[in-house]
Amino acid sequence: MTSFCCLLAALAVVADDQGGISVLRQGTPVISSFRLDCGTNAVFQKSYAKLKDGTKVWNRWSEDPESSGRLEIAERPDGAVEITMAGRVACKSENRTRLLELTVPASLVDGKAYSSIEANTRSYAEQHGEFTAATKALSSRFLAVDGLVFDFNALGAGTYASQRNSWHIKRQSDGSFVLAYGGEIPGWIGGGNGAKLVVREGRFEDFGRLHSLKDFRYANEFLAKFNLGFGSSARGRKWRNGNLPYNRKRSYGWTDVRGCEPVGGSAEAGVLYSAVGGSKPATYRIGGLPDGWYILTLAAGNYGGVANRFEVWANGSPFLSSQTVPAGKAKTVSRVVHSRGGEFELVFSGQWLLSSISLQAVLYDYEDFSLSGKPWRSDGYEPRSINRNDSLAKPFAPGSFVDVVDLPAPGTECAGTPRETPTPVMLPEKSPDWIRNVRIFKAFTNSALLDELDTDADLAEYFERDVKPHNANTILLSGMLSRHTFVGNIDRGVEQVKRFSDEAHRRGYRLIDHFDVTLLWNACAGFRVMCERLDELNRSVHTGLPSYQFCIMNPKFRETFFNYCERIVAYCGADGLQLDEVEFWPHGCCCRYCREAFFRDTGWHIPQNELDPAWGRGSEFQRVFKTWRIRKATDFLGAVRERLRKVRPDLVLSAYTTPYGMTSPLMPLSHGRDILDVPRSANLFGIEVMTRSVMKSARSLFSCQGISSLITRTYGTPVWNWYYNSDWQNDYVSWAIASMTGQLALLSNVERPEGTPPYPGFSALKREGADTLAEVALLFSAENRNFSGNIRYADDILGTAQALDALHIPYDFIGDEILAQNQLGKYKVLMLGSAKVFTDRQKAALGAFADRGGKVYQEMGGAPFSMGSLKVGTKFSFSPDPDAEMAFREKVRSACQGATVWSVRAPKGVRSALWREADGALVAQFLNLTGVDNKPGETVTPHAPKVAFPKLAEDVEIVLAAPRGVKAVATSPDFTGQRELEVAGEAADKVKVVIPRELLSAYVLVRLVAPHNEITR
Ligand SMILES: [Zn+2]
Repeated sequence: MTSFCCLLAALAVVADDQGGISVLRQGTPVISSFRLDCGTNAVFQKSYAKLKDGTKVWNRWSEDPESSGRLEIAERPDGAVEITMAGRVACKSENRTRLLELTVPASLVDGKAYSSIEANTRSYAEQHGEFTAATKALSSRFLAVDGLVFDFNALGAGTYASQRNSWHIKRQSDGSFVLAYGGEIPGWIGGGNGAKLVVREGRFEDFGRLHSLKDFRYANEFLAKFNLGFGSSARGRKWRNGNLPYNRKRSYGWTDVRGCEPVGGSAEAGVLYSAVGGSKPATYRIGGLPDGWYILTLAAGNYGGVANRFEVWANGSPFLSSQTVPAGKAKTVSRVVHSRGGEFELVFSGQWLLSSISLQAVLYDYEDFSLSGKPWRSDGYEPRSINRNDSLAKPFAPGSFVDVVDLPAPGTECAGTPRETPTPVMLPEKSPDWIRNVRIFKAFTNSALLDELDTDADLAEYFERDVKPHNANTILLSGMLSRHTFVGNIDRGVEQVKRFSDEAHRRGYRLIDHFDVTLLWNACAGFRVMCERLDELNRSVHTGLPSYQFCIMNPKFRETFFNYCERIVAYCGADGLQLDEVEFWPHGCCCRYCREAFFRDTGWHIPQNELDPAWGRGSEFQRVFKTWRIRKATDFLGAVRERLRKVRPDLVLSAYTTPYGMTSPLMPLSHGRDILDVPRSANLFGIEVMTRSVMKSARSLFSCQGISSLITRTYGTPVWNWYYNSDWQNDYVSWAIASMTGQLALLSNVERPEGTPPYPGFSALKREGADTLAEVALLFSAENRNFSGNIRYADDILGTAQALDALHIPYDFIGDEILAQNQLGKYKVLMLGSAKVFTDRQKAALGAFADRGGKVYQEMGGAPFSMGSLKVGTKFSFSPDPDAEMAFREKVRSACQGATVWSVRAPKGVRSALWREADGALVAQFLNLTGVDNKPGETVTPHAPKVAFPKLAEDVEIVLAAPRGVKAVATSPDFTGQRELEVAGEAADKVKVVIPRELLSAYVLVRLVAPHNEITR
């Protein structure tokens, strides 16, 4: 413990004769009572023990599965009181409450000033106030009042649970406050909760000395407390000058010299390109450090080619023994080290070199319950399967990382023309048939622990009760999302996946297991895993330091991960995998493996010099590097497939995104994962349609779903859409939009009253082998979305699509690959939007298209478009000028002359689609959206309009090319049976079909079949 702890007066825990416990400060209660609620009839066992280190521990627990729970109250030798609670609810138990309540007497808080930090650890927000009669409730994770600190999140901000659950602080009628954690565990399948609170004397200002992190997001870069550069003054803005004498205020510096001499290197390039050194021993001190676990990184660059051989000691232990750094190279060493006593002292001896020192704080001792610390102070009954003393029984084994990299001459790393990173297609020879009609049921939440459903009978009941009503054929199983961070639970998790998978298969379902690949948040013991597997981490391009994620290019990590996938597929029998967080993150990655692979693929180096202009925004290197990351994230999935080819040649790899994820350059550029590149490896693709207001968002949904269709067009991969609807009318429209765009709808489990059209089971378009009749192609280029510099790249092209929808002109979205492969045969018009960047192959394809008479249009200009998914609760703001909209449509209509395919006369608000099925039948589909009338300023609701599908004022009339004698038959969920429609001959090879208005209630499908079942145009 650091010295300031010892100055504090102690809190004392006292138990009365009845077993009631309170906490006193100098004889006055600060917590007057504890109540652990584990439902009715809970009978608690009690124990008291004094541990070897002097900690006094009171335990209350129930081992009865109907009321399983435990409360441990520990009076620690440092004067703090540590309160730990865990509860588990068995499957189907009626006793679903697991709640801990502490009472704080009014006298402690009345009229006192407080300082607090808002509960959710994803951000840091302070709150300062005074406890008055008006203070009814507080949401806090760290509360200081009257010389006491209530640390509700003693485990630190990186804890997974602290991003989701928090304590509630509520005033009671007598003025006292109840501090409560937990409550009813939702659902019936079982679950649990747990919390740790530390109460101590102290001040609000202590927070920074108790916790290493103010807040945490899993995509964060792991920032250093100290990033010190030596050598020349040329260094990036993440670095401070460390070559200074020590003083207390600065808290770092040399203790025995004023500063060290630079020893060769470059005066212009960054930190690794110069160094200080000497032949006399020198001591460097970093002070002001809370006791705890740190990652210490030293780097020595020998660009100057000086002789060296040296060792480094850290706090009296060897950190580096007899090292040399070869000329023209830099050596980086990271180790997880423990600091006690407030400072680090590094002693350099021999002929030594030093370019940088960095220190990252992992967890301070105070908050360490997962590295060398344990979740419970005393061993005993543990209700839950995670955060157990026994699961963390294996001693913490801190890892290390040593890397030697080249230091090329600055400015030469990105010379010449780079090679384009290859884009191999890594799909199975044949994907299984079942994915063409996949209907997914999502089992469990991401927070599930895979210990739910206690018995085989419970598991069977889950399938009957929860799965069956959904009419699904495939199960997406979630739970323990970052499986690798659940130390001590990984094998247990595998067994549970097998158990679930076996049951699913017995019942004829397919199983896709869902987990994440790279996250290292502190779910269970993620920070322990991060420290133990230090040589597998993503390293920041800003500093070279390890971060809170694995690197997907690291061979050791890949081997471990692929082995895990093999267990899931070969042993558990999963048919597919949904792998999340396969990416490089905003800050990654410049580890050795990324450097090597980047050079191999492109012929360029990732510049070691952080001052290289190549790192500037919009540089050619940035384009090449960011593109490379996108390719490698997709290739990672391909590598999973390759590795499992023997056990499962038709493995399903599933990927999904949102409409925003598809149209925005944010994910590809910042995180290094492009969902439009991923289908080179993933053979099942989905969109989570975020809007809860499908009918009101229909205008944009048609165009957004059009974009995802380019995946089917390029790779033959089916696309599903996940909807969240609250009524059957919106659900019906969701189903219809999917059918009209040739996709699958995963419908919501909404109430479908008696007499509702039976759309879920209705046989509409036969998607297998079907194609649109479009002669207009719209390019949606991922390259241009990412690198044209136009953040509104999608707008023009989506606006054009929306105009085409309104004009009933069929169109297809095509992507970069279709253009590159010159698969443009069916099109007469090609619209490029604002795309400016084309590869040579694409340019050649555009030339060939024009040569055979195809019309190419650049940006249409002035396209009014309604974007994305309308959010429920927001105000509808889209209000195009009607004249401008009409003018734009006219522009589009004239551009598409000769490529309109058919003509449709229908009331405004009717949508259409025209397909040809594999057997040649033409399929026209119509959707009645005339009831949707979005008014600017209106609040978006999830409900359908009062009259969802108004009666049409006129018939719908179509004229299209079809042979004489064709029969037109209408079917719909809105009426039973088939209706044969009248077909009139028009000019030459054209026919006119009238769909009487009473047949289009909500949706109607008209199939035109030639007498010999062959329609040609
Ligand atoms: Zn890497």
